[in-house]
Formats: sequence, structure tokens, C-alpha cells
Amino acid sequence: MTIATAQPMTFPQELVSRYRVCWDVWPVETMVDGKLQKIGFELELSGTHPPEVTDVSPGCPSCREVFRGLRQIAEHILPSKADRPSEYVISNYEPSIRYSRSRGSRPDVSLTIQILHRQGFGPVDECEQRCLKVMEEGLAALGASNGTWQARRANQSVQL
Ligand SMILES: [Zn+2]
Repeated sequence: MTIATAQPMTFPQELVSRYRVCWDVWPVETMVDGKLQKIGFELELSGTHPPEVTDVSPGCPSCREVFRGLRQIAEHILPSKADRPSEYVISNYEPSIRYSRSRGSRPDVSLTIQILHRQGFGPVDECEQRCLKVMEEGLAALGASNGTWQARRANQSVQL
């Protein structure tokens, strides 16, 4: 593995390994006729402060750096605009840190992408499921981990 120096921009797979990015999937639910119904998904990306950062606090410059990285990764994995039967809503930055026990209580910054119907509410459909699958495959190809971080190489076929 070579160490990139003086890159004009950072590739998404470098961001994934620098911030040890993991993802989780949660249902999005709402009340429909008095019943809780699944209407979509929330794909949560979690990245952590780089190891050289010792002074970690919510809203610190590193948090912002991690969030910018997550945002770049999110934009990279969104299905193309031409094929968007579902809608994607990317969360804004919030100055908070989460310590998930499943990730060894590392200081995580998170970004969520909601996958919803473009129009109105409705039960989870094939399109939403397909969109979620495309994004999860994109994350896996970049070397991200589902749930708990496992260091591995990004898929070499990832388009740079
Ligand atoms: Zn921070």
C-alpha cells in the first residue's frame, strides 16, 4: 500500500480508511391511521476522529473534518440523479459525538441519509430497498464496514 502525498483531493476510499467509516441501517417509521408503519430507511454513516487527535470534544475542528469526509462519501454513493425514484435526505452537521459500545466506544461523528418515497408516505417498496442496497454496496466497495470497523482494502475496481 502506498501513502498518497500532496493529493489535490482526497478519494472517498481514503476518507473511509482515515475515519474508519462504518454504517448502520435503521427503519424510518411514521404513524399511519394510528399504526406505526415503516416508510423508508435511514443509512447512518459513522466516522471517528483520526488517531492523532488527542483533544476530542463535540464540535472540535476534527469533528467538522470527519463530517466533511462523511458528506463526500455520501455524495459518492448516492445513486445517479437520472435514476432516482426515491428521495435522499442528507442530515446537516450537528456538534455531537456518539460513543457506540459496538464500536468500542470510539468518538464517532455521524451523518444520516434518509431514503424515502419521493412523493408522500407509503410502505417500504422495492425501489427504496434497491436504493439502499446500491448504497450499501458502494460503501462496502470503498472499504467501509457494516456495524463494526474491520480494516480491509477498498475494492480495486472502485472508480477514481
Ligand atoms: Zn471532535
